Amino acid sequence: MLGVERVVVGQHQWVRGRKGGARTVAFEVGRQRILVDNPKTLPDTPIAMTTTAPLPPLKSLSYATTSPGPRLIVTGAVHGNEVCGTQAIRRIAEELDRGERVLQRGHLTLVPVCNPMAYALQRRHGDRNLNRALGPTDSPREYEDQLANWLCPLLASHDVLLDLHSFQGGGQAFVMVGPRNNDGPVEPFGQAEAEEALVRCLGVQRAVDGWLGTYADGVARRRQLAGESAAASLDLDPRYGVGTTEYMRSQGGWALTLECGQHQDPQAPEVAYRAIRNTLAQLGLTDEPRPPVVPAIEALSLHQVVDKHHAEDRFAREWRSFDAVRTGDLIGTRQDGEALHAEGDGWIVFPNARAQARQEWFYLARRSQRF
Ligand SMILES: [Zn+2]
Repeated sequence: MLGVERVVVGQHQWVRGRKGGARTVAFEVGRQRILVDNPKTLPDTPIAMTTTAPLPPLKSLSYATTSPGPRLIVTGAVHGNEVCGTQAIRRIAEELDRGERVLQRGHLTLVPVCNPMAYALQRRHGDRNLNRALGPTDSPREYEDQLANWLCPLLASHDVLLDLHSFQGGGQAFVMVGPRNNDGPVEPFGQAEAEEALVRCLGVQRAVDGWLGTYADGVARRRQLAGESAAASLDLDPRYGVGTTEYMRSQGGWALTLECGQHQDPQAPEVAYRAIRNTLAQLGLTDEPRPPVVPAIEALSLHQVVDKHHAEDRFAREWRSFDAVRTGDLIGTRQDGEALHAEGDGWIVFPNARAQARQEWFYLARRSQRF
């Protein structure tokens, strides 16, 4: 679209364009028409913008009670095209506002849309992925930096986070859980039991752990390959793997990411809604009966991430997340002809056929006995 990709919304009312476009352009965001004078001016200078209406501001809904209890925050649309959480959060808010659901103790914050620009554009992110390298910064450059400066203090003022997402491929809902208790350098943690208890009654049948540890191993390998000459860049920083839940744990809280289903699956908002209710009940914020424990949860542990070495590295087939692989199965072939075979039985997770060189190509998971 004439080179314009970036919009900054919220209190800021300005737009940046992508480098290379040099003319005034107009584009649609929802039903709003936005004009950009000079999208060439990047990266730091805000550009004057005319728009018929501002995009929605950053919004959180806060419900407090007079009885002590946990402080829970529920987030939706960290990725703007993942709207099941937004729908479920709004439904819960309406129930609370009408008095159909009663908060008995503790504190609940609902954030229906964490990334308003991406949400308005109906795509994953604005300038970059909000769910990577998440942390406050003194020198915000990208739109998501501004979001992080708003979202991080909000997260840090809570005890528990339930972050609601959806995914592109097919398949069943799954929950991403943090590490086991440990005092290691990557993600020290002491509240695994609380996360595990909620995983068991969230209502989904698949749980995945091992994200940040596997990511950090992958970054270490990437650094080795890149050698001393590698410039400091985000993809060489282990902190790049830090999203909402990892940030929450780094601040003394605990957290789960729930992937509620395929983006368009009409059941995904139901999965999200049920999970919020179950979380409220499990934490004692409402007086609903404690949710039942899911009898059989398939537990998977990520243990390896494989980068592309070359953009032309190719998969042997169109892998989808949680496709099973057996020892010796051909996963893909590198541009130089090297064949990649599965070294053990397990699953392919988060395959990205369109990854660039030095980016994550796919993850491997194996069965764990955690649940
Ligand atoms: Zn997501």
